[in-house]
Amino acid sequence: MSIGRFRYRIILDCVNHAGYTVCMRNGEYELVKAPDGYPGKKYRGRYCYEHHLVWWETTGSIPGDGEIIHHKNGKKRDNRYENLELQDHKEHSRYHTSQRGRLVATIKCPFCGEVFEREARLTHVRKRKVSMTFCSRICIGKFFKRGVKIPKQEKDKIAENSIVSIETKIGG
Ligand SMILES: [Zn+2]
Ligand SMILES: [Zn+2]
Repeated sequence: MSIGRFRYRIILDCVNHAGYTVCMRNGEYELVKAPDGYPGKKYRGRYCYEHHLVWWETTGSIPGDGEIIHHKNGKKRDNRYENLELQDHKEHSRYHTSQRGRLVATIKCPFCGEVFEREARLTHVRKRKVSMTFCSRICIGKFFKRGVKIPKQEKDKIAENSIVSIETKIGG
């Protein structure tokens, strides 16, 4: 949610659904004029996130360090209180990771032929420094202990042929 990453888009006097005057957008987030006495973080001295303002007006508190206000329906401009939920950073990123789904590779071990599933980011499908993926350390050891230098081209071929499927799995 770092505000520095986006360029503000200034929209003056655009009153949104909730009656707030939207002053700027930061990516998908809307910033509105902070009212007097607003204790939360202000940007350029007078703007604040609309969802923070709605939260504060309804609950009387602002999110603390390590807390985030999550948009339940995923629409970051839907800042109705019913759409907001306070989460800690950890649970929040865990939630979004599970929503996006994990990319899972099904691989046939190039040494023993066993078919297994592994998160793609832990295999050569995604991990840069890994040239092939084996079912176990034992198979890695046995494969490379043969003492035969395998040309990169052949390694790539073995790696390519070992992929049975790659799919996104939601949840879990
Ligand atoms: Zn969220
Ligand atoms: Zn194996």
